[in-house]
Amino acid sequence: MGDGAATVVWDAALLDYDLGGDHPFNPIRLELTMRLARALGVLDGVELHVPEAASDADLERVHEVSYVAAVREAPMASWDVGHGLGTADNPVFDRMHAASSLVVGGTLLAAQRIAAGESLRAVSIAGGLHHAMRDRAAGFCVYNDCAVAISWLLDNGFDRVAYIDVDVHHGDGVQAAFYDDPRVLTISLHQHPATLWPGTGFVTELGSRSAQGSAVNVPLPPRTRDPDWQRAFHAVVPSLLGAFKPQVLVTQCGVDTHEEDPLADLSLSVDGHRATYRALRALAEEHAGGRWLATGGGGYQLLRVVPRSWTHLLATVLDRDLDPATRVPTEWLDTVRRVAPNADLPLAMGEGTDTAFAPWDGALETPVDAAIRDVRRAIFPLHGLDPDDPRD
Ligand SMILES: [Zn+2]
Repeated sequence: MGDGAATVVWDAALLDYDLGGDHPFNPIRLELTMRLARALGVLDGVELHVPEAASDADLERVHEVSYVAAVREAPMASWDVGHGLGTADNPVFDRMHAASSLVVGGTLLAAQRIAAGESLRAVSIAGGLHHAMRDRAAGFCVYNDCAVAISWLLDNGFDRVAYIDVDVHHGDGVQAAFYDDPRVLTISLHQHPATLWPGTGFVTELGSRSAQGSAVNVPLPPRTRDPDWQRAFHAVVPSLLGAFKPQVLVTQCGVDTHEEDPLADLSLSVDGHRATYRALRALAEEHAGGRWLATGGGGYQLLRVVPRSWTHLLATVLDRDLDPATRVPTEWLDTVRRVAPNADLPLAMGEGTDTAFAPWDGALETPVDAAIRDVRRAIFPLHGLDPDDPRD
C-alpha cells in the first residue's frame, strides 16, 4: 500500500466496555481475538495504535447533549435516567461513559489516520456499535462509533462515504444518522426484519425524500447460507459502489451471521466471513481509492467463531491472509481451555465450507433471488443502474 502500513487500533482498556454478568456482549471475544491473531503471527511487527476517549463535541456530532449527560451520570444515579439505559439489553455499568467514549475514540482514530493519509486501511475491532441512536442506547450499543467517524470524515475532506454493514442485525443507528444525507450511502445486509430485532431494514427504507437511494437494505431469509449470501452481496454492493464512487469505505463486520450464533438465524461460516472481508478489501481498492475503515460489531459465539473470524479480518486488512486450513495454535487452545475446560474448540481457522457462489443472473429460483430482485428494482434506478440487467 502506498500510504504506509494499515492502522490497527487496540488498547486493553477497550475491554472495559463490559455489560457484565451473563450479557452476551462479553469483552472476552475481543481479548481472544487479539490472542489468536498474536499467536498466529498476524500482528508481528505491527504497531498497535492506542486511542483516546472521544470528546463530548465529537459524541455530539450524532448524539443529543442530554443523552451524553445521561450516560455519564447513570452509574451514580439512583433514579431511572431513561434513554434506553438500565434495560436488559443495555444495563448501566461502571465507567460507562469512559468505556463507551473510548470505543468511539478508537474508530475515530482509525478514520483520522486514513484522512491524514497515514494509512489507507484501518481496523477498530472494538467498534461497530451500529444500533446506538441519537438520544438512546439500543442493542448493546451506547455510542455509535461508526456514525461519529463518518460525521467526522464529512467535516474533514470527504463528501462521499459508503457504509457497508454485514452484521446479522439491521444497521439501524447508522442508517438513521444519515437518512437525510445524500453524501452517505448506507448498505445493510441482514436477517429479514420480520424475523429479527430491531424489526427495521425493509427494502422500502430508501433514504428521505432529499436523499432517495442513499439507504439500501437487503433483508435475507433465516437459514441463508454462504453461497446465497454471497450472491446477494455481489448482486447489489459492487454496482452501487461503482455508481456512488465513494472516497472511503466504512464497514461494520459483525459476525453474528454465523450458523452457531445464539442470537440469530442466518447460517454463514467463518470461511464465509473471510470471503466477505476479502471482497470488501477488493471493493475498497476498486471503488474507494483503497481507503477502508473496518470495525467489528455483533458476534456472540465467543469461543468458536468471533476470534477466528476477526483474526481473518485483521489478517485481511494487513494483507496477511490466512489459509482456512491453518491450524489453530495450541497456545491459544490452552488459554481458552483454562477459562472453558469443556468447550468444543476449533482446530483449524476455517470450517471447510465451500463459499463459491453462482452470480445472480436475473433468474428467480430462490427466496434470496426474490430479495435481490426487490432491492435492485427499488434502488438501482435511483443510481442510474438497470435493475434487470445482471451486468449492472
Ligand atoms: Zn448484530
